[in-house]
Amino acid sequence: MIQIDGVHKLFGELHVLRGVDLTVPAGSVCVVLGPSGSGKSTLLRCVNQLEEIDAGRIRVDGELMGYREETRDGASELHRLHPRKIAQQRARIGMVFQRFNLFPHMTALENVMEAPVQVKGRSKAAARTRALELLDRVGLADRAGHYPAQLSGGQQQRVAIARALAMDPDLMLFDEPTSALDPELVGEVLGVMQDLAADGMTMMVVTHEIGFAREVGDQVVFMDDGVVVEQGRPADVLDAPTQQRTREFLSKVL
Ligand code: ATP
Ligand code: MG
Repeated sequence: MIQIDGVHKLFGELHVLRGVDLTVPAGSVCVVLGPSGSGKSTLLRCVNQLEEIDAGRIRVDGELMGYREETRDGASELHRLHPRKIAQQRARIGMVFQRFNLFPHMTALENVMEAPVQVKGRSKAAARTRALELLDRVGLADRAGHYPAQLSGGQQQRVAIARALAMDPDLMLFDEPTSALDPELVGEVLGVMQDLAADGMTMMVVTHEIGFAREVGDQVVFMDDGVVVEQGRPADVLDAPTQQRTREFLSKVL
């Protein structure tokens, strides 16, 4: 479960997240929509501690991310955790970006094996067995020996998903995972994500794919200008939005 309470984030003077509250129950899929610059990527980056927050709390399965809280004289203080501890917390969260960021000089198999061996200290044999399973799961059993340049965009993104899953994450964050793909390749990546959701993975997904939001999302969140403007069941938010800003946005993307 992801619990986001009163999160603020500033970049210098720019107040990008202005008090975001959001709960993603375990095993559910939260689809985040919103116009460019509304803070969607920043929110995901805060969840996995690629960004420090300026106020609020983010908890994953009850554990405070990035900070230790101490109560002194009745007042609570936050202290930034040691980078090593933050790296441990981050290892529980898989993230997939718009750009696949695969290592170009490694095969699909080597890309998927890399982090378990380097970060978790798994044996190469164990990491290889698991990587082959994961490549099979994303439909790429026959592409294990291919380099990224020899794979289509959709295949590369599926390798990126397998790579994130190789760390056995408790939750997965997707930031516009299909936006860089040719239209005919979008479906294969969304299909893998849908399977993952069906297997009970907790997911936050920033996407403009309204069909995915409707079919796979347990909740849809509409963000604008650094706040959650509207959230609820997909059918409610998408078909009967209560806020004018949501209606305007949807009229452009639907
Ligand atoms: P898009 O749909 O275009 O991806 P977004 O909703 O993901 O937009 P963010 O990337 O979170 O938006 O950016 C929110 C705001 O924060 C934007 O104004 C952006 O320019 C700014 N911003 C993001 N990252 C940084 C940074 N590292 N330094 C300064 N400003 C930043
Ligand atoms: Mg973004």
